Amino acid sequence: MLAAIGAMCVCKPQYSNPDELYGTLSAGDYLIGNFDPATQPLFLNVNTVNIKTMGRTIYLRREAAEALNRMIADFKKEHPDVDLWVVSGTRNFASQKGIWEGKWNGTRAVNGQQLNRTIPDGRQRALKILEYSSMPGTSRHHWGTDFDINILQNDYYKRGPGLEIYAWLQSNAHKYGFCQPYTAGREAGYNEERWHWSYVPLSSIFLRDWNDTVKARYPLNLSFDGVGSASDLASVYVNSVDESCK
Ligand SMILES: [Zn+2]
Repeated sequence: MLAAIGAMCVCKPQYSNPDELYGTLSAGDYLIGNFDPATQPLFLNVNTVNIKTMGRTIYLRREAAEALNRMIADFKKEHPDVDLWVVSGTRNFASQKGIWEGKWNGTRAVNGQQLNRTIPDGRQRALKILEYSSMPGTSRHHWGTDFDINILQNDYYKRGPGLEIYAWLQSNAHKYGFCQPYTAGREAGYNEERWHWSYVPLSSIFLRDWNDTVKARYPLNLSFDGVGSASDLASVYVNSVDESCK
């Protein structure tokens, strides 16, 4: 973070005890999403802190949910007529596997296409999915620090209420500890995602720990369709994030 200037300081909490980071889980299980956030005391149902989800049940790490709640309250003071809501937060391995396999097998369309039909080659199909979706075990959504807002389309954030939200977040999100991992102009990894934000005080630690505990062993013994197609690229996608998120 570059935010250590006077009142702008987003001071990172010190996590000296692994239990504070991972609770009863091993770092390895936590970082690949091998748990149910509903049963983990480190996680909070964001509806309980007054964050809009449009009817969805969404969990985040408590620290992230509380910071997000403060950020949305301050945003609403300046933009009382603009709605800011969360559409996705913690996704565990099973949830990410569902998204990945849906795109892999054609039951979830990508740009209106069934990729199993339009891209028979496994490597190319995986690269297409990886424009916006992670392989199970590599998603920042596993960590409980990352969430998606409002609409999953970059164009939404170029005019109207979407632009009001995005411009405000670009100026202010860092004050609450948030960064945009998938900015435009990065050299590798996922495409730009203006809707995806991350709570840096925790996610920067989880990124480091993913590299220490998962990277060399990925895809471990994990099972999902297309697992062999691009697992060698896992580290590239995990690590190609904006500098403000490291
Ligand atoms: Zn996301």
